[in-house]
Formats: sequence, structure tokens, C-alpha cells
Amino acid sequence: MKLVVATQNKRKLQEIVDILADLNYNVISLADFPRVPRIVENGATFQANAIKKAVTVARFCKQLTLGEDSGLCVEALGGRPGVYSARFSGKDKNDEKNNRKVLRLLADLPINKRKAYYACAVAIADKSGLLGVVEGRCSGYIGFEPKGNTGFGYDPIFVAPGYKKTFAQLGPRIKHSMSHRFRALKKARKILEKYIVQNH
Ligand code: IMP
Repeated sequence: MKLVVATQNKRKLQEIVDILADLNYNVISLADFPRVPRIVENGATFQANAIKKAVTVARFCKQLTLGEDSGLCVEALGGRPGVYSARFSGKDKNDEKNNRKVLRLLADLPINKRKAYYACAVAIADKSGLLGVVEGRCSGYIGFEPKGNTGFGYDPIFVAPGYKKTFAQLGPRIKHSMSHRFRALKKARKILEKYIVQNH
């Protein structure tokens, strides 16, 4: 059975494909649907954006679809960048600029004031509408400088719980054992497994 992943982000897509590798689904991406309408991510929450992506793409492609929205929430910044994580540094955004902005805003705050968590919402929809939405989180803290070169986004500054190393230093095997995306997809699996049983 086919599962469309409604994202243009290749790194994110790869993580989703890796984490769901053992499921009995043929995962395809938006690259197979070049005419899919652009989705404006203007929801107030990760879940609202994930639902919008899943429902819009499922309706357009007439396929079972997974919508994902995720980001970094920093306690000392009142939860920012949150749903604005991808575009935190403005119009000419990129991962490096986003990381620098977070580090600059936290300046010399001590380690106990650098708490943060990643959040990931996953919504599943088919052509008739939403089937379910779930969320996963991973707590850690923001380091003092970027370290490591695996992963993407804020991984070089996100220090994983219990490791004293960033996700970008730890690599995909460890990241996928505890990440917000792994935790959300673990819950989403139940929806996907039920769908296979009901539709075969
Ligand atoms: P989205 O495509 O709107 O969901 O953007 C998510 C943004 O949140 C990404 O561009 C990253 O900046 C950040 N983000 C989400 N998940 C991760 C992750 O696993 N590692 C690092 N950054 C992430």
C-alpha cells in the first residue's frame, strides 16, 4: 500500500522513511506529485499544520497521506521559535542563520536556563479526511556553540538528554531512538497498522 509523505524537506523525508522502514508501506514523496498545491503553514500549533498538510495532500493525491510539522521550543524564549522554526531568521533563512539567532538570543545564559524541546506532530489522512493526529516530544538543552555535522536544522545546537552531545554529533541511530519524530511516528504506526487491516 502507498503512503504519501507531505513534505518538501528531503532530510525530514529520509528520517521518516528510515523510522517507518519495517512497515508494510511503499513510502512516496511529493516529488511524485509536482502539481500539488503549495500549503501555507499558518496554523498556531504543530498539530494544526500537520493536519492541514495531510488533509490537503490526501484530497489532491487521493492517497493515504502523512503530514508532519515539527520544530524547536526554547523555554527561555517563551517557546520560540516553535511553529516558526524553519523561518526563524527571516526571509533569507537557513539552518546556520537560525542556529546563530537562537545562540545569540540565549547569549550567556547558564546551562540550567537553556532548556528546550523538539516537538513533532504527525497527522494521517486519506481522501475522505483526517484519520488521526499524534505528537511526540524530546527534551534537551541548547549548547553554547554548534557541534557536529549530521542531521539538519537545529541538530548542531540541540544537546540530547543524557549524552552531553548534540544530535548532530550523535548521528541518526541514536537520534532515531529518542527523537520527537521517532516518538510521534511510534504513535502514528498504530493508525497506519489499523488502516492496513481495514483496507485489505
Ligand atoms: P517544518 O517543515 O515547517 O515542519 O519545519 C520544521 C523546522 O523545524 C525545520 O526546518 C528545522 O528548523 C526544525 N526541526 C524540526 N525537526 C528537526 C530535527 O529533527 N532536527 C533539527 N531541526 C528540526
